[in-house]
Amino acid sequence: MSTTPQNPAITGLTQDELIDWLESAGQPRYRAAQVLRWLYRNRATSFAEMLDLPVDLRQLLQDRFALFAAQPATHLISRDGTEKLLLSLADGQLVECVLMRETRRQTVCISTQVGCGMGCVFCASGLQGLKRNLSRSEILEQVLRLDRLLQSDERITNVVVMGIGEPLANLDVLLHVLDTLCDADGLGLGARRITISTVGLPDRMLALAQHGRPFNLAVSLHAPNDSLRNTIVPVNAHTGIAAILAAADAYFEQTGRRVTYEYVLLAGVNDRPQHAHELASLLAHRNAHLNLIPMNHVSELEFSEPAAPHTAAFASILTQAGVATTVRKRKGEDIDAACGQLRLTHHSTKSVTPPPT
Ligand code: SAH
Repeated sequence: MSTTPQNPAITGLTQDELIDWLESAGQPRYRAAQVLRWLYRNRATSFAEMLDLPVDLRQLLQDRFALFAAQPATHLISRDGTEKLLLSLADGQLVECVLMRETRRQTVCISTQVGCGMGCVFCASGLQGLKRNLSRSEILEQVLRLDRLLQSDERITNVVVMGIGEPLANLDVLLHVLDTLCDADGLGLGARRITISTVGLPDRMLALAQHGRPFNLAVSLHAPNDSLRNTIVPVNAHTGIAAILAAADAYFEQTGRRVTYEYVLLAGVNDRPQHAHELASLLAHRNAHLNLIPMNHVSELEFSEPAAPHTAAFASILTQAGVATTVRKRKGEDIDAACGQLRLTHHSTKSVTPPPT
């Protein structure tokens, strides 16, 4: 039995590539802006809707491209309004993305890889290793599909690159995607509304600083010294904390953006008062923000979050030492919203909840 190969997603083309394609099809270049408006502003779900394009162009687009190339395998809605999509990609791989709603802020959390090669011991995403990088269209499709879940008067206000994968291990593709999100012909988002979270790859952090847009950078530290960090974040054995902090300082110098450090609190592992003091000595003299994240439970793993008063005591040591510290609020806990968990559950049960139509 033969199957028709699926058309490539149109979001795989940059604006320049779209212009070239249109010109090669005998169309004027201004059609590109029209197509992009339908994709990024008007939330089109088919080429047929693009009514200001000539009929023959709509047909040609439909013959050559797909608007979206992935299929939603699961769509979950949390009691707190958080929504999560598990997308099945053209090759059957799965990837997750999340929409978080607040009063005046709609944040999407996107993935950059299938699986992850960093191996952080408490994280669901890396349990089955890295399968592959996501393509430009596979990352953009997460944003555009979540955008289509919003009410007509709501807009995506913030993007966090904190889903599955290590964003800086797929940096070239990610930067093209973020440029499109920032472009006036894309979503028109300010770079200051975009946060990239990294395990801490110093050379890639420096490359990101060179890119020139003032994205927010979040560094997943999770330990205040190398011997402990090596056991929690294995890739640290190749980098070390000193080089990561130096690259983060350079990022701040270059972009003017205060770096956030993330620290997942694992009960009995990295949550002792002595760890808080050590962390304070690393961060107090830096223009940094610390985000303490209580461990989200992963059923395959033994780690757990400390009791709330213990977390508060850890935070207060840092605050008293002059470190701007917050404890992260949970979102979408009832739908496994933390990164990688849904994909993992799906792999082990193979159950599919059809998305609401
Ligand atoms: N690879 C990147 C981005 C993806 S993870 C990074 O390491 O930063 C985004 C954040 O979620 C990271 O700080 C990561 O350490 C954290 N995280 C992963 N698993 C978690 C869990 N089970 N509970 C709480 N935070 C988790």
